[in-house]
Amino acid sequence: MSKYHPVDEAAIAELQQIVGEKYVWTDPEKLEPYSHDEVTGAKYIHYPEVVVLPETAAQVAEILKLANRRLIPVVPRGAGTGYACAAVAYEGGIVLTTERMNRVIEIDEQNMVLVVEPGVRTSRVQEIATEKGYLYPGEPSSSDSSFIGGNVATNAGGLKAVKYGTTRQQVLGLELVTPEGDIVTLGGKLKKDSTGYGLSQLIVGSEGTLGVVTKVYLKMAPRLGHVVDLLAVFPSLDSAINIVAKIMQSSISPVCVEFMDNKAIRCVEEFLHEKMPHSDKGFYIILSIDGNNEEILEDQCVFIDELCTENGALEVLVADSTKIWKARKSFGEANRARSLIFSAEDTVVPMSRIPDVVEKLSALGQKYGVSIHVAAHAADGNVHADILKEEMPVETWNEQLPLLQDELYEFIYSVGGKLSGEHGIGFKRLDLMKKYCNPVELKMMKAIKKALDPNQIMNPGKIFRLD
Ligand SMILES: Cc1cc2nc3c(=O)[nH]c(=O)nc-3n(C[C@H](O)[C@H](O)[C@H](O)COP(=O)(O)OP(=O)(O)OC[C@H]3O[C@@H](n4cnc5c(N)ncnc54)[C@H](O)[C@@H]3O)c2cc1C
Repeated sequence: MSKYHPVDEAAIAELQQIVGEKYVWTDPEKLEPYSHDEVTGAKYIHYPEVVVLPETAAQVAEILKLANRRLIPVVPRGAGTGYACAAVAYEGGIVLTTERMNRVIEIDEQNMVLVVEPGVRTSRVQEIATEKGYLYPGEPSSSDSSFIGGNVATNAGGLKAVKYGTTRQQVLGLELVTPEGDIVTLGGKLKKDSTGYGLSQLIVGSEGTLGVVTKVYLKMAPRLGHVVDLLAVFPSLDSAINIVAKIMQSSISPVCVEFMDNKAIRCVEEFLHEKMPHSDKGFYIILSIDGNNEEILEDQCVFIDELCTENGALEVLVADSTKIWKARKSFGEANRARSLIFSAEDTVVPMSRIPDVVEKLSALGQKYGVSIHVAAHAADGNVHADILKEEMPVETWNEQLPLLQDELYEFIYSVGGKLSGEHGIGFKRLDLMKKYCNPVELKMMKAIKKALDPNQIMNPGKIFRLD
């Protein structure tokens, strides 16, 4: 039996008092979009009892105080683009959406810091930095839809992480409403801070289990004058993947190094109705390099061209940027169009082990009779493998998928890898987390959770269960 209390009429009345009647929703039609994220399959759908739309940190604090008093779970939610079922209320209770907390608070050009509320869309953050002549390098492929608060809570990675790091590296500080309803600023505009524990970084990637992020201090990077996107097409998986380490070991520091296998390329081609180069048998490495000096960039392009050609590339092209990034960013959507039910794996391994992972995936696909499409943030060692159900009966899929995942993750951990490079654990990977996470590491995480959220109201049942 659940330890939590239902959201009764008295709780609804209190919520209405805090945020206004208009911003407390219980109508099932309005709740539907909040009953899932991007993970597909009936077993992952779960309606919240109520959706609440606060506008200020003070309102968030009141909601969390109410939730503690009444023992009601609270699930913070951004845009719901997650791939881990982390923003879904499996224990019932309140979904607290940050949609209305979408103000840009400060553009501090002198310190190159942007202060925004969590409901600001990631692409808006990028635009603001660009308008001011800077770069916000956080760029998950979902930038057009995801919120910055969601990026912080998942430590989102994305296309430019090779050079600029994940969201963690962009966050200087944040304002948090703690699970007990206190409002605290952790970090801020400081570039350095050795004043005790780095608590702001503890919150990054905590998937809404340690409080609600209500403000974020983000670094802006200098924008370099020129960017070139290259597409190197290889005839085989090995030749494509093997080039990654060679590029990274050279003196060039690329912004992006992405990989797409042939199945992924064909699937995207069909989805977009656009012919892709060498889609009959090619494997892609997509590269971006940036710099201020055009001549140096040209030399780097020539170097990459020669290196790829020496290593068997069929062709190295200066890519049509719009087309190639649209193709890469459509990976997930194209797979979904092919098979509504699919499992998006987010493995991460040391870069040198990527070829082994991709080979293992190919063997597992054959063994279990499923198509596995692969795209990777290759230089990060972050291999996305979308396993498609297609025509497989649901019962077989439900039986076979965990077996396949077990074999996959046994292998991933044997080569020094981990469950998730950027999507997080959420509800989807709970069992795998229990099985594969180092027990001492897990014990430390649980101790932190218990200390900061004594009534366990913040996004319960995500990352791990407190049994
Ligand atoms: C097409 C597509 C491409 C994608 N590409 C990438 C990619 O390249 N890289 C990548 O890392 N991910 C990617 N993702 C996954 C997803 O977009 C990211 O995980 C993103 O960071 C989620 O943001 P969101 O606003 O949708 O958060 P949600 O899905 O709403 O929530 C995610 C988690 O954050 C928590 N949360 C949200 N807001 C707050 C807050 N204010 N305070 C505390 N907790 C909060 C939620 O409780 C939940 O645990 C992709 C998804 C799709 C659909």
